[in-house]
Amino acid sequence: MLNRITMSPPVRIAIVGGGQLGKMMTTAAKQMGFHVTVLDPTPASPAGQVADRQVVAAFDDGEAIRAMAAEADVVTYEFEHIDSVSLIALEKSGQAVYPTPKILRVIQNKLTQKRALVEAGIPVAPFMPVPSRVDAEHAANSYGFPFLLKACTGGYDGKGNALVRDMDEINDAMAALGDCEIMAEKFVPFTCEVSVMVARSLNGDIKSYPLSENEHEENILRRSIVPARVTDKIADRARKAAESVMSTFSGVGVFCVEMFVTPEEEILINEVAPRPHNSGHYTIEACVTSQFEQQIRAITGLPLGDTKLVTPAVMINLLGEEGHNGSAVLEGCAAALALPGVHLHFYGKAMTASKRKMGHVTVTAPVLEEAMTIASKAQKMLRVIT
Ligand code: AMP
Repeated sequence: MLNRITMSPPVRIAIVGGGQLGKMMTTAAKQMGFHVTVLDPTPASPAGQVADRQVVAAFDDGEAIRAMAAEADVVTYEFEHIDSVSLIALEKSGQAVYPTPKILRVIQNKLTQKRALVEAGIPVAPFMPVPSRVDAEHAANSYGFPFLLKACTGGYDGKGNALVRDMDEINDAMAALGDCEIMAEKFVPFTCEVSVMVARSLNGDIKSYPLSENEHEENILRRSIVPARVTDKIADRARKAAESVMSTFSGVGVFCVEMFVTPEEEILINEVAPRPHNSGHYTIEACVTSQFEQQIRAITGLPLGDTKLVTPAVMINLLGEEGHNGSAVLEGCAAALALPGVHLHFYGKAMTASKRKMGHVTVTAPVLEEAMTIASKAQKMLRVIT
């Protein structure tokens, strides 16, 4: 497989998904001279604006994916809710697809993902499948209240999760999740949430990035603080857990391992994403090699770059203001960019909507507290409106 990827002529990369992650991957690939085609149903998608070519097609359009892959040396993807069957078929036909679709398939389903982690001895919160209400009652009796019911597939930004506070809420929670495979999970009274971006190359080298401390509101990431304000012991445990995850899945590319830190200073893995991640955006300005360049290096058979943190950083997401649906305008841009160390990323999505991720700002400063103060100021200035 490695032989298929050569630096001359330039590698042609196909990316399924044209959102902001695809855009930042494409930008890194273009900087390195690669040819990039992206596939996304929305014309002039964020990634399509910087790629050589965009194929406008649905993510489950196997024929379009096959046609795009036929003109590429390597295929990758920017999000996990895609049709793994057509990617598996592609791989069988000899096409290089990274991370491999077999791993994608395991990770796509929260239940199979957690089972694989447990099998590898990696700590996760207790969980069980919930095929019926009786099983949900069994979970309640085992875990106590509150506990979580989660849709096994298709969830993102907390969509597909339901917190159950008493027996009476079980029916409503199951109804809210709809007609899908469901699992239950014990509630973790975490002290903080952290994530580690970790990369694995084609020849099995693994490099992890510094720990990011992540704050969510309504399950959507709002702020990442790097380095995370945790003890060295926790940071070390988190790094080791992330690297074990990467070896377990034999992933090629950059993965994000999201974790809970418990009051006992234990690490429990919450979720693995087989791709660069929002909580790793800080790497663009704050690390020697960004997560996006790392992804491109890994999937094209190049050596991994240095993951060292060069400066403390705080990343804040720019979400669409509530009540504003339509053509997007960024308010406060000039004032925010007058602050020192502010780096703006606006994704180029034509339409904003309430809580939609429209951009982010990374603030770098020699001291973390300074970056946090400036990030708070910038956050107050910036509004995505119509
Ligand atoms: P998920 O979509 O499963 O990553 O969950 C989204 C958010 O829900 C996480 O970032 C946590 O804040 C929260 N969450 C998920 N699972 C648990 C759990 N077992 N205990 C406590 N909070 C959780």
